Amino acid sequence: MVNKYKNVLVWFRRDLRVRDNRALLQALKEGDRVFCCFVFDTNIIKYLSDPRDRRIHYIWGSVAELKSRICSHGGELYVTHGKAEQEILNLSLKLDIDALFFAEDYEPYAIKRDDMVTQSLTKLGKKVFRLKDQVIMAKDEVMSPKGTPYSVYTPYKNAWLKKVASKVIPDTGKEKIDWKNLAFDGKSAMPTLPDLGFAEFLNGKPAVQPGESSAQSDLLHFSTKIDQYEETRNYPFLDNTSRLSVHLRFGTVSIRDLFRLATSKSTLGHKAWLNELIWRDFYFSILFHFPYVTDRSFKIIYDQLEFTNNQTYFDAWCTGKTGYPIVDAGMRQLNETGYMHNRLRMVTASFLVKDLQVDWRWGEQYFADKLTDFDLSANNGGWQWAASTGCDAQPYFRIFNPSLQSKRFDGEGTFIKKYVTELSKVPMKFIHSPWLMDLQNQKQYSCLIGTDYPYPVVDHSEMRDSSLLMYKQAREKEVINRGTRKR
Ligand SMILES: Cc1cc2nc3c(=O)[nH]c(=O)nc-3n(C[C@H](O)[C@H](O)[C@H](O)COP(=O)(O)OP(=O)(O)OC[C@H]3O[C@@H](n4cnc5c(N)ncnc54)[C@H](O)[C@@H]3O)c2cc1C
Repeated sequence: MVNKYKNVLVWFRRDLRVRDNRALLQALKEGDRVFCCFVFDTNIIKYLSDPRDRRIHYIWGSVAELKSRICSHGGELYVTHGKAEQEILNLSLKLDIDALFFAEDYEPYAIKRDDMVTQSLTKLGKKVFRLKDQVIMAKDEVMSPKGTPYSVYTPYKNAWLKKVASKVIPDTGKEKIDWKNLAFDGKSAMPTLPDLGFAEFLNGKPAVQPGESSAQSDLLHFSTKIDQYEETRNYPFLDNTSRLSVHLRFGTVSIRDLFRLATSKSTLGHKAWLNELIWRDFYFSILFHFPYVTDRSFKIIYDQLEFTNNQTYFDAWCTGKTGYPIVDAGMRQLNETGYMHNRLRMVTASFLVKDLQVDWRWGEQYFADKLTDFDLSANNGGWQWAASTGCDAQPYFRIFNPSLQSKRFDGEGTFIKKYVTELSKVPMKFIHSPWLMDLQNQKQYSCLIGTDYPYPVVDHSEMRDSSLLMYKQAREKEVINRGTRKR
């Protein structure tokens, strides 16, 4: 077969692997000389204020592995640092490319950037190919019979499953990659972390090791546990979920490999896990079709919520010092490891919004700063779900009781004691509500409430009533506003 283009460039972004990489495979088929690049985009990384940001370490490690894989096949990965649109234009001119290949992205910033790159290269007569890679179903592939995007999960899921059944999900991971067209134009150095403005070392060990090889071994490890996923996934102390979210975020693993694992058997575990992958696609679709959700409530009516936004409460939540052990354990897990178990993401998010009456956007931003797996679509979807402002969200009158959630999902307090070490001697009877201990108990269990561990910042049942009122008032206000708008 004659290749269509002489020089082509593959731009790696959130697809940091060679296995089943759509843009790379297509470029190798269509280009005589295939160059590869990755840009540390200053438009994004300038907002990362922590010099030990875990994501940068993860990306850096993954890019280093990708570079060595590409080099081992006779090519080179050009790694640059600057504004992505400018860097890609410069490289395209320098390497005299005819076509650019990359995996498409669905976040508002990325779409704008990719449009800019596409326009500037097209003007120069170069072809640009944007390929679907990071999701199973993208953009308009799953739409309601009326041709509108779904805003409720179950019908979306049913339509998604129907669509998947009628499609072949290509298993390009099995294809033997023909590397002979990889181009080499001299060695290119990898910038160091300090070159990028970050510290060389993390504080402590990363929760997830970077790179494609680590992603493959984590996937293999989870494949031995997936049968039990349904029964065990809600218990943070078991750590029995896949822990693949960071790999998915940066594409060190292929979503199609995950889909194949999820559909390889029909145990309850496999089905439940497939559901989660569909939630992921669903939130991508919501963000793509309703980009206003990044600043506003999906259900506009809840833009009327009057949060009190008490800074002291917010600080207590961020630092894991609310006096509610399960909330504090979740927040400390996040602060210490860059990860939080899904059950605790729901509990801590609900607590911030409905017990502390802090705007969900504050919590969303905090998670965005701290989570290594931060993904705009899933994070925004999760926060709006917990705040009852989102599509198909938790109803506003359902308010998690933190002590009951704690008893149900961490009955013996194993997880709590791992992160809230002040409570390590407190027995099961008090572990979910330590403020119920009398002074004698507190002394006996080496935990003075108010000194070693805080009193609860708020009273859950009082805040529950107050939040129900806050939501009721928002709904009433919207009805009044609607009336005024009509007149
Ligand atoms: C408030 C809140 C914020 C969240 N923020 C993020 C985020 O920034 N990034 C992120 O990847 N997930 C987010 N989630 C979803 C979920 O908590 C994580 O995906 C999950 O905990 C990651 O662990 P895992 O890989 O072991 O998941 P598993 O249980 O093994 O699930 C497999 C994969 O499915 C996807 N997934 C699972 N649950 C969801 C979900 N509810 N929504 C969308 N995708 C899902 C993830 O890609 C995950 O890796 C958030 C949830 C909530 C409630």
